[in-house]
Amino acid sequence: MPELPEVETIKSQLNKLVAGKKIIFAEFFGPQKMINLPKNKFLKILTGAKINRVNRRAKLLILELNNDYVLLTHLKMTGKYLWNIPKDKHTHLILKLSGENQLNFKDVRKFGYLKLIKAEELSKLLGKDYGPEPLDKNFTLKKFENLLLSKPKSKIKQILLDQKFIAGIGNIYAQEACFYAGILPDRKMETLKKEEVKKLYKGLRTILQTSIKCGGTTADDYLDCYGKKGSYVDKLKVYGRKGLPCLKCKSILLESRLGGRGTVYCPKCQK
Ligand SMILES: [Zn+2]
Repeated sequence: MPELPEVETIKSQLNKLVAGKKIIFAEFFGPQKMINLPKNKFLKILTGAKINRVNRRAKLLILELNNDYVLLTHLKMTGKYLWNIPKDKHTHLILKLSGENQLNFKDVRKFGYLKLIKAEELSKLLGKDYGPEPLDKNFTLKKFENLLLSKPKSKIKQILLDQKFIAGIGNIYAQEACFYAGILPDRKMETLKKEEVKKLYKGLRTILQTSIKCGGTTADDYLDCYGKKGSYVDKLKVYGRKGLPCLKCKSILLESRLGGRGTVYCPKCQK
């Protein structure tokens, strides 16, 4: 699933590609469950609207329109915004834009969604479901420490995945951050030493920032707006590397299951 760095990559690309452009024509072919309004109403709101800019919150893309609506998009497992790439059977939304361009929403698994929300309702909606942004400049080590103190009994990896706790982190970056910090993913929060919390904080921010520079990670399906893969996959230390030697100490990486999801770790580097 695209996480913070992948969605941030899409956001930056969309800002260059679609900000300031008018939606001349919109077509929807997907299932009704993918959108939050009846299809005709949904298309009517989009048609003729200008896209002012594109924002991101957690793993959500927010296309701000000039008609007091935002198009809120969650890519979920396999959702993609593709620029000037021809429609196929998995294309669910086509936005024809000024300058003979088109932006398509494609989603093979169809778990993604597109919601038209009144701009004024957005902050209420997002504030309720999402914790702080880890790359926000106001997200200090102190804030991270306080956040951790609120969940003393929770396992570190599971809490990193909880969007209400901290926004935008998924299975890839949670595992990578634990490796960076030298912490076993199933450690309880209350067992972390001050130094480990500091390393985890630094690890999260460093990894997310580096991944954004690499255009995110394509571990399986993710592609950017141009259909290009994210190259952070070459920098992954543990995710997807079960049974391979640790890049630091050569121990064979092991996998455990946490909350039903595979979690790879180094039995020597992580304590
Ligand atoms: Zn190791």
